[in-house]
Amino acid sequence: MKRRKILKSLSTLPFLGSLSMQSAAAAPLKKKRDVIEELGIRSFINAAGTLTYMSGCIMDEEVVETIENTSRHFCMIDEVQDKVGEKIAKLVHSEAAMVSCGAFSAMTLGLAGILTGLDIKKVEQLPHLEGTGMKSEVICQKSHNERYNHAFLNTGCRVIEVETVEDVRKAVSEKTALLHFLNIEASHGQIKHEEWVALGKELKIATSIDIAADVPPVSNLWKFNDMGFDLVFISGGKAMRGPQSAGILMGRKDIIAAARLNAPPRGFTIARGHKVNKEEILGMYVALDKFISGDHDKEWKGWEASIAHIENAVKNIDGITTKVIVPELGNITPTLTISWDDSIVKLTGKELRDKLRYGNPSIEASFAGLPLYHYQAGSDSVDPALVETLKGENLIRVTAWMLQPGEEKIVAKRIKEELSSASKPG
Ligand SMILES: *Cc1c(COP(=O)(O)O)cnc(C)c1O
Repeated sequence: MKRRKILKSLSTLPFLGSLSMQSAAAAPLKKKRDVIEELGIRSFINAAGTLTYMSGCIMDEEVVETIENTSRHFCMIDEVQDKVGEKIAKLVHSEAAMVSCGAFSAMTLGLAGILTGLDIKKVEQLPHLEGTGMKSEVICQKSHNERYNHAFLNTGCRVIEVETVEDVRKAVSEKTALLHFLNIEASHGQIKHEEWVALGKELKIATSIDIAADVPPVSNLWKFNDMGFDLVFISGGKAMRGPQSAGILMGRKDIIAAARLNAPPRGFTIARGHKVNKEEILGMYVALDKFISGDHDKEWKGWEASIAHIENAVKNIDGITTKVIVPELGNITPTLTISWDDSIVKLTGKELRDKLRYGNPSIEASFAGLPLYHYQAGSDSVDPALVETLKGENLIRVTAWMLQPGEEKIVAKRIKEELSSASKPG
């Protein structure tokens, strides 16, 4: 055997390899297993946004470290939730908090807590509400009743739609468990936040709000607790860059305690499948803590600069129109729309997105009008026909918040290349 080969084979034996300092230094670095490459899975630059079907976000480095470090220890899950919940509650101005398996899970757990209280028999009975004396209805405004409200159906409850304050008063009965509000639709419903909370207090029914994708601004983390909502639901794996399979349920102490009874580690519950292990619970806490103490101005300026770089690269190409907007609600980040005159640029939006997707490196851009969540491509779209129409439009949309440093240059270059070559005559 040649010396190099011997050293190499020695270094693969961990004990011998670490004993022999000299050979460790001379041996090539052990290559980490790259299972994405091994399985031939496509990874890509994410210029689209925090979309679940694209695996959400790249976790903050400190979150990854937390997950790795905590993975080497055993802890009691309830103790982890107790300690983390106390810290989170302080950070977000709520009485109590727990880490859930995403915002959707927080919705199911919060409602389950209202239904069962601390009665274990009721916890075991969910989702079968008949003859149990448990409440069975959630009320929300019609425009606020979107697909994620399925989380409420999982408890056995039904959702009742209303439009006016009068409707709410009529709909409320001894069956009403919750008055739910969807922040992203706040401008569409007739009843606004404060009025919704006031109705809940007057009618003595708990109120909740879904703010899953609504940071930034960071102040939304406490705004709705301060306003008086009894429960607030948020995702961990969107802009906060926590674990994609984590979120936070915050709110009233008695409801959170009951929600915990409906949650893992307990296995006689509807939510045993919403398992979050200690790594994710602690990772979620670190993500939140880091997000709150982060430099949001600096981060925002970075996103603006990246978007400006991409816009500047393409805006002077013949037939191209660019526009940067910041959505008022939901996915609040500078968002660039690039559209074109298809008599000059011979491409559809879908064709351009495919060229970016199948190019090297692969890039995902977005296509739809805002709010983005209505139109996510893939399996969880609201209206597949609408999605197909939008895909064909002569436009793409780009955000910078999920780009890694420097990737804006690659995105700008690739979009420019494709648009320039499609706008050449002939
Ligand atoms: C993303 C999202 C959810 C679901 O959140 P998860 O953390 O993925 O469970 C619910 N509601 C809205 C408005 C969302 O944007």
